[in-house]
Parts: sequence; structure tokens; C-alpha cells
Amino acid sequence: MICENCEGSGEVQEHNFDKELDSPAFNIVICCFCNGTGEVQEHNFDKEAVSESEFKRFVAVQKSGVTNMFDVNRVSSLCGLPKDKIFDIMKNYGDYAKKFNTEGDDEK
Ligand SMILES: [Zn+2]
Repeated sequence: MICENCEGSGEVQEHNFDKELDSPAFNIVICCFCNGTGEVQEHNFDKEAVSESEFKRFVAVQKSGVTNMFDVNRVSSLCGLPKDKIFDIMKNYGDYAKKFNTEGDDEK
């Protein structure tokens, strides 16, 4: 399916936060959803779907900073999610963040 993030162009505009330089407000960057291919594999959210509350529990643990998120055993016990869901969230973090609209903190 066509990548929704870049609408199939493979490129997206990104805010240029480097205000020191006299540079354009946007940079054109390769779309991180599709790695510039313009197409993504359809993500099957129905199969053992991570729910919004599960995702938010993961994010809460992540934001608390109490553990290295790659320590999956500990993350699993802290947020009470099975390891396969942790891996799923880590692998598809952007998808879930978009789906559950939790990116609001640092993006406007
Ligand atoms: Zn894309």
C-alpha cells in the first residue's frame, strides 16, 4: 500500500530546527515510514493487536526512564506486557504512536 506519511513520494518535509543557520524552514528528508520507497507493508493491527492502554503503559515506562528499554524482561514486568508485544511496539513504535496519537509532546 502507498505510504500515508509521504503519500508515496518517499520524501517528507521536516522542520529545520537549526535556527542558527540561515537555512530554509524545512528540510526534505527520506520518509522513515517507508525508507524512501513510497510503499509500506500493510500493518496488520488485528493480529494480537497492542491496545491503546498497553501502548500507553509502555510509553509511561519509557518516559519514566527507570530502565533501559532494551532490557525487555524488565520492561515486560514493569508494564505488564508480554515480550512479544514489547517487541511489536518497539518494531512498530511509529505506527502505534501515530495510531494512538501520543506524539503530541515534542511535535506540533
Ligand atoms: Zn513514506
